[in-house]
Amino acid sequence: MKRFIPYGRQAIDANDVQAVIAVLESDWLTQGPAVARFEQSVADYCGAAHAVAVNSATSALHLACRAVGLGPGDWLWTSPNTFVASANCALYCGAQVDFVDIDPLTYNLCPTALERKLEVAERAGRLPKVVVPVHFAGQPCDMAAIAALSRRFGFFVIEDASHAIGARYRQTTTGGCNYSDLTVFSFHPVKIVTTGEGGMVLTNRGELAETLERLRSHGITRDPRSMVGESQGPWYYEQIELGYNYRMTELQAALGGSQMARLDEFVERRRQLARRYCELLEGLPLQVPQQAGEVDPAWHLFVVRLDLHHIRRSRREVFESLRAAGIGVNVHYIPVHTQPYYRALGFRAGDFPEAEQYYREAISLPLFPALADAEQGLVVGTLKEAMR
Ligand SMILES: *Cc1c(COP(=O)(O)O)cnc(C)c1O
Repeated sequence: MKRFIPYGRQAIDANDVQAVIAVLESDWLTQGPAVARFEQSVADYCGAAHAVAVNSATSALHLACRAVGLGPGDWLWTSPNTFVASANCALYCGAQVDFVDIDPLTYNLCPTALERKLEVAERAGRLPKVVVPVHFAGQPCDMAAIAALSRRFGFFVIEDASHAIGARYRQTTTGGCNYSDLTVFSFHPVKIVTTGEGGMVLTNRGELAETLERLRSHGITRDPRSMVGESQGPWYYEQIELGYNYRMTELQAALGGSQMARLDEFVERRRQLARRYCELLEGLPLQVPQQAGEVDPAWHLFVVRLDLHHIRRSRREVFESLRAAGIGVNVHYIPVHTQPYYRALGFRAGDFPEAEQYYREAISLPLFPALADAEQGLVVGTLKEAMR
């Protein structure tokens, strides 16, 4: 039988398996030493002072919003070209969501559109408290521009770097929070590093890290300095705010820690495959990802935009021919504001035309470290055939 080539897939080796087995045979399945070790390895890699591991990036985004005090009456702005979690985190906090249209070349939130929208919002007295730039496909946003706007207009920046562990921007590593308050990673199996399910928040600010750690575990503190009352004894803890159980298990952290040893290798192979896709697709009626200056993307996704005027096929026809041939293409993303839940909040088709136009033309091709050159050739050959 012909092998189905997925669009993304985890890369698990014998060391990863051993690391998880070692946890199973140890004293700690949760709240042990593996989580702290994994946090340290990600913090060190990125150059961030603090890292807090949680059970998903969705939880990480929620905690990041809570840590900066996002709540009722506040606004969070993000890109419409993202997974719904980048926006939902505001709604969990009782805040409201709005979007900023994308740059038609990088598919990231457009800093010029952001500036224009901020100027209008300032006049209306409705500036956002938080902006969430999403490093789409693993390509860092124009963070210097966004950081300058955050200083001018006074909002917090939470980077949704779910696609971008291992990416570089100017002289910095994504996750180092050199241009933001907090950065979030996802460790879902299709992402670059996996823990099965998992996420992490990074920050350079100690007080934010302390809040994140407390919120991850019910809002409980065991530190007498944070308590409202006197300690009643060695067993004593206090719940001082409303938190959650968003903890990562030791099994997940051991897998993540083991995966971190190969992060550079994963990203190098992804970059190699992305370069080769660009070469193989040259001259076809489609647009390959455009790299902005001063970035080295981690390439979580490789998206092509079909030139629908040129080819006499719809995106759906091309998509379905590839799927029928065993090529696991996908589409990233349905613009969040067009989801029924967001339409019910008042958003309309046409609100963010660049993201909507991009969505009509986009197809994500398979990209993961174990994708063989021959398989990549097959993907390109099948795509050519499908567009003919
Ligand atoms: C995957 C993803 C998330 C959510 O990650 P989970 O770990 O599955 O909760 C959030 N934002 C973006 C951009 C993602 O790709």
